[in-house]
Amino acid sequence: MTSKRLLYYLLMIVNTKAVHTMTCGACNVACQRFRKHRNGLLRFRCPICKKTYTEAHERTLGAMYIPQDRAVLALQLLLEGNSIRSTERITQLDRNTIMRLLILAGEHCQTLMNSRIKNIQPRYIQADEIWGFVGKKQKQVRVGDPSEFGDTWIFVAMDEETKLIPCFEVGKRTRETTYRFLSALKNRLSDRRFQLTTDGFHFYERGVENIFAGQADFAQLVAAENAPNDGFWRFVAPLICGSQIRGHGEMGGPPGNSPIAD
Ligand SMILES: [Zn+2]
Repeated sequence: MTSKRLLYYLLMIVNTKAVHTMTCGACNVACQRFRKHRNGLLRFRCPICKKTYTEAHERTLGAMYIPQDRAVLALQLLLEGNSIRSTERITQLDRNTIMRLLILAGEHCQTLMNSRIKNIQPRYIQADEIWGFVGKKQKQVRVGDPSEFGDTWIFVAMDEETKLIPCFEVGKRTRETTYRFLSALKNRLSDRRFQLTTDGFHFYERGVENIFAGQADFAQLVAAENAPNDGFWRFVAPLICGSQIRGHGEMGGPPGNSPIAD
């Protein structure tokens, strides 16, 4: 063994700090680190019989076998806006694995939100919808396409002061999604009064009345936009030439003097 290689092995031993060890069942001696399995797990080789072993799978990710650091990297890349295929190229994980990982992480986040975010007492909640699409954009949807295809909206509520997002809902921009969203919001909150500000979407008006029944001071911020409504307006900054606040005082008092931001 050349000294260079010895140095390399020493570095490897120092870096891994011998957390993982393995004993050869046949020879009953400690095995040495021996490269890595292609899935990232450590391998060991018996110095006597040369038999190799792979460290035990740690199933920290449900039924998935991928190493945790690579899973974390994949999620970081996705959260920074990388595409699934770009994440696939960087992490060398299969894109179907990445998608399963994304769903798993989402489910865990949902559980965390459900267990931690309850009975909160915000003073100002703002709600808005973010546009997206599933499969294809709305005007390409044909008869016979799955019902979830086309424009899809993420309804988001945000506490104006802490920026906490108590809830969100994905769906079509319909009465049903609006009610699901508002009910989810109500489940997160205490009974304390708060001010809810939304955009001008008409389903909010009746929904807030029905679901919050006097608990919320409700205002809609309606921006008058110069941008043409040609389906692309979400990609250009609309020219706001004025805004109008529609207060709904009869639904539990007039909105307070809070900053109503867009
Ligand atoms: Zn052996």
